[in-house]
Amino acid sequence: MFDKVLIANRGEIALRVQRACKELGIATVAVHSTADADAMHVRLADESVCIGPPAASESYLNIPRLLAACEITGADAVHPGYGFLSENARFAEILEEHQITFIGPTSEHIRIMGDKITAKETAKSLGIPVVPGSAGEVTSETQALKIAKEMGFPVLVKATAGGGGRGMKVAHSALELGLALATARSEAKAAFGNDAVYIEKYLPKPRHIEIQVFGDGKGNAIYLGERDCSLQRRHQKILEEAPSPALNAAARKKIGETVSTAMQTLKYRGAGTVEFLFEDGEFYFIEMNTRLQVEHPVTEAITGIDLVLEQIRIASGAPLTYKQDQVTFSGHAIECRINAENARTFRPSPGQITYWHPPGGLGVRVDSGVYQGYRIPPYYDSLIGKLIVHGKTRNECMMRLRRALSEFVIDGIETTIPLFQDLVSQPDFVNGMYDIHWLEKYLQKP
Ligand code: ADP
Repeated sequence: MFDKVLIANRGEIALRVQRACKELGIATVAVHSTADADAMHVRLADESVCIGPPAASESYLNIPRLLAACEITGADAVHPGYGFLSENARFAEILEEHQITFIGPTSEHIRIMGDKITAKETAKSLGIPVVPGSAGEVTSETQALKIAKEMGFPVLVKATAGGGGRGMKVAHSALELGLALATARSEAKAAFGNDAVYIEKYLPKPRHIEIQVFGDGKGNAIYLGERDCSLQRRHQKILEEAPSPALNAAARKKIGETVSTAMQTLKYRGAGTVEFLFEDGEFYFIEMNTRLQVEHPVTEAITGIDLVLEQIRIASGAPLTYKQDQVTFSGHAIECRINAENARTFRPSPGQITYWHPPGGLGVRVDSGVYQGYRIPPYYDSLIGKLIVHGKTRNECMMRLRRALSEFVIDGIETTIPLFQDLVSQPDFVNGMYDIHWLEKYLQKP
């Protein structure tokens, strides 16, 4: 096992990783920008290193500075959390070159899955059903039009380097295709420095259902059920639940086994999430995330398995703690992403938290990196915490969620809590009847 883990992240996820390290008796190193000197992840770590000014490119994304922090502190492993460098194959490679363990998959697997075209081809070759679309990159409007006509409109133009819903444009007709191509390309170029795009059939009313997997890197892999992340705004998840209201045990087992078999073939190591769109009883692969997800706690709630602990154990060379038949699903869990944003316009709302009262009680978990008096800096993602609620049934979970949301008080800034307080009384949500477009339509209502 490791002696000291450096956590190359901030906020709630840095704390989440620290908690797992502490339980395992591993010393922790926090890194932070000058804007985060007062952050909770710095206060609670055993050691901390300031790695630069506020801009992420100068701090949390700066590989030489992170490497220097590892060398100064003698950390023998790095946990990247999610976002920042968590899916940067070069970072994983450089760490390994310095005999520091990257707590995650091999750089080769990160690279394969980081390019969406290669990821889709790989998934297909492993027997995973994929969204119909172009065979690889689309380089001209003529080629795009030919493919779109064969598949039928609407189609979706997607960036191969895509992430965070950027570089994605729908075209409903041949007339819209040229503009969709150009916009997706320029967005992708600006966001990822890579303007390669491909085309997919645009599914009209799918759910987003993803499968959590774990592999030991030696050909053993298990699945930990699914998460339904269909409540989205601008292709970004807002609320997640497990199990999905749309799946039964047989469908879960079938897709779970397909995915875990594929991960066994791939000899995948560590935690991963295989994302699908689900429509009319069929699954369609869209991408794989080779890291821990924001929404991992709903899986922890229904399986009782600590996903971060498991990541660390696997990275240290231990075998999987659980065999597939030892994984059981119990009850229902929902996670709400608490963002420092206006609940209607989603305009960021950084500033000082003047009052902070998180909810408690049976089945309630709050993962957060903030505290009363904390000043949220304007430089980073607006996620300030997550409320995760667990109950024996979906109904009990919903009752608990309503109660927890009514207890949660955050003053001084705007948050997304009022949105969730509205949602828990919406019949479609309460009945689990929603697809990936439902929230956008709901938000457009006066
Ligand atoms: P990103 O990596 O940018 O998050 P994804 O490929 O994971 O992109 O897609 C994000 C979201 O975009 C999905 O959850 C879904 O809501 C929507 N989406 C992606 N592909 C399609 C598609 N072919 N048809 C309809 N919606 C899609």
